Amino acid sequence: MPDDAAPIHYRVRLQDAAAHLLAVRMRVGRPDPQGQRLTLPTWIPGSYLIREFARHIVRIRASCRSRPVALSRVSKDTWQAAPCDGPLRLDYLVYAWDFSVRGAHADQSHVFFNGTSIFLAAQGQQHLRCTVRLDKPRGVFARRWRVATTLPADGAAEWAFGDYQAGDYDELIDHPVEMGDFRFATFQAGGCEHAVVLSSAPDADLDRIVRDLAPVCQAQIDLFESETRRAPVRRYLFLTQASESGYGGLEHRASTALICARHDLPHRGMTGIPERYRGFLGLASHEYFHTWNVKRIKPAAFVPYDLARESYTRLLWVFEGFTSYYDDLMLVRSGVIAMADYLQALAQTISNVLRGAGRFEQSVGDSSFDAWTRFYRQDENAPNAIVSYYAKGALIALSLDLTIRLRSNHRRSLDDVMRLMWARYGRAFEREPHGLPEEVMPALVYEATGVDVSRDLARWVDGTADLPLAELLASFGVILALEPQHEGPTWLGVRTTVRDGDLALTQVLHEGPAHRGGLSAHDLLVAIDGYRIRSESALNAVLARRQPGDRLAVQVFRADQLLDFEVSLDSPPHTKAKLTLTPLRERRLERRTPIRPRRPNRRRSGDGNRR
Ligand code: ZN
Repeated sequence: MPDDAAPIHYRVRLQDAAAHLLAVRMRVGRPDPQGQRLTLPTWIPGSYLIREFARHIVRIRASCRSRPVALSRVSKDTWQAAPCDGPLRLDYLVYAWDFSVRGAHADQSHVFFNGTSIFLAAQGQQHLRCTVRLDKPRGVFARRWRVATTLPADGAAEWAFGDYQAGDYDELIDHPVEMGDFRFATFQAGGCEHAVVLSSAPDADLDRIVRDLAPVCQAQIDLFESETRRAPVRRYLFLTQASESGYGGLEHRASTALICARHDLPHRGMTGIPERYRGFLGLASHEYFHTWNVKRIKPAAFVPYDLARESYTRLLWVFEGFTSYYDDLMLVRSGVIAMADYLQALAQTISNVLRGAGRFEQSVGDSSFDAWTRFYRQDENAPNAIVSYYAKGALIALSLDLTIRLRSNHRRSLDDVMRLMWARYGRAFEREPHGLPEEVMPALVYEATGVDVSRDLARWVDGTADLPLAELLASFGVILALEPQHEGPTWLGVRTTVRDGDLALTQVLHEGPAHRGGLSAHDLLVAIDGYRIRSESALNAVLARRQPGDRLAVQVFRADQLLDFEVSLDSPPHTKAKLTLTPLRERRLERRTPIRPRRPNRRRSGDGNRR
């Protein structure tokens, strides 16, 4: 029965598993007397792209006391119901066939949905409490199904179908729901029950995942909650969907939705931390860190979220970049991975940034602002035109952390900044929601650490020059070396893929040999020096037998036109980072002495931040 006491009630049912249709019944207790407007978000928080979820509503009807109510369209995401005397009922079908962490996906194997895909908002009533009934599908396929969600129960038993609730619409859409025959394992961290919920990975060693994640979660709780060591949530779920390939996650206030490749996960008897599994742990750690950084500490531009249109902030380098810095750092800090593995992961991030000339065109501040149209809508020109606020943001966090440690003579670190951000903008968020102002970071760092980084941040965040990583790392006994990006004597400066039996250029890197020779993305490589090239290995074999300065006659199809070019080869650029410890640092690590600057802190100059 609908909860008549709740102003807004939803009931969700799998209508047709084969057609991937979810049936939603919504009841608005006191509709707007002028006629109720109903709207679906155009984007989901955490994923900065306009997705227009309303296009997946395939049928919608309104009624009041069993009599039809006229429903008209106002815009792509909004409906208008005619005025009615009594509770308004809406019955609609949602097509759910998006296998991602951002949408909704339903078939005979499971149902996963984000509220942003299926719960219409009653405009003007988003502040009201809602209840949700989740119905168990009738098919035989669903006999063993359970429910995994952090939506607070309104009578439903843990892991069961039944009644749930949310304090308002914002909360309603921040608890994704998984229904299916999943496995789960629980662990305690910070006085809170955590569970890893795993779908479609029958041979994965769930106990191992739990053993590895528990100390990572505790390390994050200890960072933010250094006094209480308590988690900021009552219960936390890692909703993990395994697939053949795939990698991604989306953060929520008390859970995360993850997609990973099945063979990224550990199996029974597996020892050590293979790189793929480290990637999975890094992803889980990343999303968990967001529990503080972006779910509670938010940019002011997200308070409240405007889900009808883009919300612009130049601060994603803080929210995604800092989170990307801490995700792997927490793995090594909690002892789950070794220092050598951490340095390898960090070196990969450095290489990712150095590989794109786009870092000289776009600052991370601009990259954050333009996330909606550029980072989230990357085309063939992306490496030449944009920089990732994730990767470069993580390196800014590293630079900031090392700078603070150096200039405070190791008394302060980026952790102090995170704690101040949490105390000021996060901890009390639910009582007094206010977000991080756009220009506040330099003042916040100074307040937390006494270190003035305003000039550094201006250069790193709004400028496009490379960060002083080698120098900073050297002060901590870490040597940054840059090696050739590719093995072999020459490179072409392209990325390729095989398309219908032809080798297509997917990207042509600025100032590389291919670019200088006139080649373009989307060209189909036909022949080099008169011989057919149809695979990347064939191309690499040619490049391996040439020397820098050699000229190649390259034939390509551009659309339907055969074109000839001459390309002069270069040696591959040195953009592959390698990090190693100095022998002294290595010995200190063995003795477990804390990281300290190798040199004593230099005397401060007048402005206190001389490099
Ligand atoms: Zn993130």
